[in-house]
Amino acid sequence: MFKFLKEKLKSFKKKIEEIEKKEEKEERVAKVEKVEKVEESAVGVAKAEVAEKVAERRKAEVEEAKVAKVEVKKAEVEEKEAKAEKPEKGKLASKIKGKIGFKEKVSTLILKREIIIDEKKLDDILPELEMILLESDVAFEVVEEISRMLRERLVGRRKKIGEKLADIVIDELKAIIKEILDRNKFDFDEYLDRLVAERKPVNIIFVGVNGTGKTTTIAKLAKRLMDRGYSVVLAAGDTFRAGAIEQLEEHAKRLGVRLIKHKAGADPAAVIYDAIVHAESKGIDVVLADTAGRMHTKKNLIDQLEKIKRVTEPDMTIFVDESIAGNDAVERARMFHEAVGIDGSILTKLDADPKGGTAISVSYVTGKPVLFVGVGQGYDDLVKFDSDWLIKRIFED
Ligand code: GDP
Repeated sequence: MFKFLKEKLKSFKKKIEEIEKKEEKEERVAKVEKVEKVEESAVGVAKAEVAEKVAERRKAEVEEAKVAKVEVKKAEVEEKEAKAEKPEKGKLASKIKGKIGFKEKVSTLILKREIIIDEKKLDDILPELEMILLESDVAFEVVEEISRMLRERLVGRRKKIGEKLADIVIDELKAIIKEILDRNKFDFDEYLDRLVAERKPVNIIFVGVNGTGKTTTIAKLAKRLMDRGYSVVLAAGDTFRAGAIEQLEEHAKRLGVRLIKHKAGADPAAVIYDAIVHAESKGIDVVLADTAGRMHTKKNLIDQLEKIKRVTEPDMTIFVDESIAGNDAVERARMFHEAVGIDGSILTKLDADPKGGTAISVSYVTGKPVLFVGVGQGYDDLVKFDSDWLIKRIFED
C-alpha cells in the first residue's frame, strides 16, 4: 500500500538531510576557525600568566633561603627548582585545559544558536515535494494548499542546530495532511446508531461508475452493519445492466440478506422505494441501494439519480470509487457531488494503490468525509476511515 509515495517521501527526506549536512559542515568549519582564534589568544594569555608566577615564586624562595641563612648546595637548589617546576607544569596543563573548557563553552553557545528557516530554504525543497505529491495523485489544489500551509508554518520557524530540518518538514507535512483530512471528520457508526434509534429504515444510496467496486462495497457494508447488530435489505437499483442485478443478488445470497429487485430496465426509483416499504413492514434497520454508474448519456444518469433522490429521500448518498483511479476518481467525486450532492465517499482498492493521493484529495475536493476504505476483496476488507490510519500507512514502514 502506497509504496510509490512512501519511497518518494523517504528519498525526499534523505535529500533534505544531505543538503542540511552539507550546510552544517560548512557552518561548522567556519565556527571552528572562529573558535580556534579565540583559543589561540586564550592559551597565549595562560602561558604568560604562568611564566610570570613561576618567576615570582622562584624569587621568593631565594629570598627565604637568604633570610634563614641556610646553606644550600647548588645541586640541591637545582633539585628543588626541578621539583618546583613539575607542579607548575601541571598547573600550566590545567590552566590550558581551563582555557579549552572555555573554548568548548564558546562552541556550545554557537552550536546552541537557533537558525531561522527562511523562504530561500523552502524554495530549495518545496518544489520537489510538490512534484512528489502530484505524481502520487494528490489533486493540484490540494498540493497547493499543502504547500501554502507548509510555508506559512515553516517560514520564520526557529530550528536549533541538532534539530533536523527533514524531521521538521516531514512532521509538519503529516500534521497538515491530517488536518486536511480531519476538516470533514464524521463518525458514520455514531450517526447510524442515532438515526436508527430515531427512525428506521435508514436509506443509504450508493453512486459512482461501474467497475470501481461499488457492488462489493455495498456487500461489505451490509456485512459490517449485520456484524454490528443491524438488519439490512439490499436494493438492486442499477437496472441499466442485468449483470449488476445478478452481481448484487450473488452477494445477497452469500451474506444471507434479502435483495429487492425488478427486471433490468425498470425504474430504479421504484425498486428502491419498494425496498424501503419492505424494510418498514419488516422492521428492518437499513436499506442499502445500488444505482447505475453508467447510462446512455451523463444527463440521463444525473436525471435518474435526481429522481431517485426525490422519490426515495435518502438519508445518505455515498460516492464509491477506486483509489487507484487517482485524479479521475477525484474528478468523478467532484462531478457527482456537484450534480446530485454526496454526503461522503468510500474509496476501494487501497490495498492495490501505490500512491494514496486520491484518499488525501477526495474529501478536500468534495468537502465531504471519506467514510470507509476498501482494502481487499473479502467482505471484511472494509476499514472505517481514520486520518491516523492513513498517515501511519503513508509515513511508517
Ligand atoms: P462495480 O462494478 O463497481 O459494482 O464493481 P465490483 O463490486 O463488481 O468490483 C469490481 C472488482 O473489484 C471485483 O473483482 C472486486 O472484487 C474488486 N474489488 C472491490 N473492492 C476491492 C478492494 O477494496 N480491493 C481490491 N483489491 N479489489 C476490490
